[in-house]
Amino acid sequence: MTTTERIFARIDNRRDELVALARDLVRVPTVNPPGDAYAACAELIGRRLAARGFQVEYPRAEGTPGDSAGHPRVNVVARIEGAAPGRCVHFNGHIDVVEAGSGWTVDPFAGTVRDGRLYGRGACDMKGGLAAAIVAVEAILEQAERWPGALEISGTVDEESGGFGGVAWLAERGYFSPPRVDHVIIPEPLNVDRVCLGHRGVWWAELELRGRVAHGSMPFLGVSAIRGMGAFLAAVEEELYPKLDARRTRMPVEPPGARVSTLNYNSLHGGLAENYSGLPSPLVAEACRLVLDRRFLLEENLDDVKREIVDLVKRVVRDRPGLSWSIRDLMTFHPTMTEETAPVVRALDAAIERVLGRRPSHIASPGTYDQKHIARIGRLHDCVAYGPGILELAHQPDEFVVIDDMVASAKVMAAAALSLLGA
Ligand SMILES: [Zn+2]
Repeated sequence: MTTTERIFARIDNRRDELVALARDLVRVPTVNPPGDAYAACAELIGRRLAARGFQVEYPRAEGTPGDSAGHPRVNVVARIEGAAPGRCVHFNGHIDVVEAGSGWTVDPFAGTVRDGRLYGRGACDMKGGLAAAIVAVEAILEQAERWPGALEISGTVDEESGGFGGVAWLAERGYFSPPRVDHVIIPEPLNVDRVCLGHRGVWWAELELRGRVAHGSMPFLGVSAIRGMGAFLAAVEEELYPKLDARRTRMPVEPPGARVSTLNYNSLHGGLAENYSGLPSPLVAEACRLVLDRRFLLEENLDDVKREIVDLVKRVVRDRPGLSWSIRDLMTFHPTMTEETAPVVRALDAAIERVLGRRPSHIASPGTYDQKHIARIGRLHDCVAYGPGILELAHQPDEFVVIDDMVASAKVMAAAALSLLGA
C-alpha cells in the first residue's frame, strides 16, 4: 500500500470518530451574534490537537467588535512540524454559527445522526468541514513517515460577522503569511467535488436623504425625504439595474445568476418611527434612510461602484430644492480570486479526481468568506475553499452534512496536503 492508500484506509476506519468530533463541535452552541461559547469550542479543538503533539495557542482578539469578558473572541491555532523544513499547509475553519432560527424538526444543538447525515446548526457551515480537516491531518500524522514542512489547523471566530475578531485579526499578526504559511484550505460548505476560487466584493452603505418637516395637510410647505427617495429608487430601476444586469464576470460564480453585478436594498425607512402606539401623526417625512448591499465583480473598481450610486443621488437632489443627502460606508470587502493554476487548486483537483473519480468544478462564491483577509491582509494568494457541506443548506433549518461527504472530503484534504508538502 502507498502512503496515501494507508491514509485513506485510516480515515475509513475513523469514520465514527469523525462523526463524533463533528457532533461534539455542533453541541457547543457558538452562536454569533453574540459570540457564545467560543472559548469552549476553541479548547475542545486545542485539547485534542495538543494531545497529538501540536503546539496550541488561543489568541484572543481583544477589543474587536463584540469582544468582552462575557464573550471573548478566542481563536485556536495549532501547528505541528514535520521531520524536515518545508512548506506549511494550513486548514482554517470558522467555529461560529448563525442563530438556529425557526423551522427545525430536530434539536439544532444535539448533533443528531440519522440516515447517514449529521444534523445541527453548523453541521454544514462548517463544523463538519473542520472536523474532516482535523481527521485528515491526524491520519497524515499516523500514517506518513518523515513528512517535510508543517501542518496547521485553526478554528477562528466571527466569520459570520465579517471575521474581524478571527482571520482578519490573526492575518494582521502574521498568522496567514509566508514564510509561516504557504497554502490555505478553508473547508466551507461548497460541495465535495467543487473548489471555490474566491468571491465577489461587497459594499454596504446607508444612504440618508433629508428634507424639511411640515404638517401633513400642507405637504407643499415641507420637503418630503420619502418622495426624494422614491425618485432615487425610480432612477435606479430605470438606469442602474439594466447596467448591472449586463455587467458579466469571468468569475465562475455559483449560482450563475450571481455572475453579474447585483444590488439589494437591505432596508428602507422614512418618516415616523415604526413602533409608535395609537395613530400616526401627520408629518412630511424629514428623513429617509436606505441600506444598500452592492455586490461587485473582480472586473469592477470600488470607486466606480460608489460613484455610479452617488451620481444618481446627486442628480435627484439637484432637481429637488431643500433636499440634502449623505452616504455612510458600513462595510467593504474587495473581490478576490485565486488563479486556477495555483498549487492548492491543482492539488485539490487531483485529489478530488482520485477520491471521487470525477472531474472537479471550479466555482466562486456570491458572498464573501474569510479568504479575503488571507489574500488582502496576509498577502497569501494560494488559498481556496473546499469542504463537504452542501452550499444551499448553510444557515437553513435542519442543516445537515452527509457523513459520506465528510469522509470523502477528509481523504481529499489529506491527499492534497500530502502533495503540497511534497511528501
Ligand atoms: Zn461558513
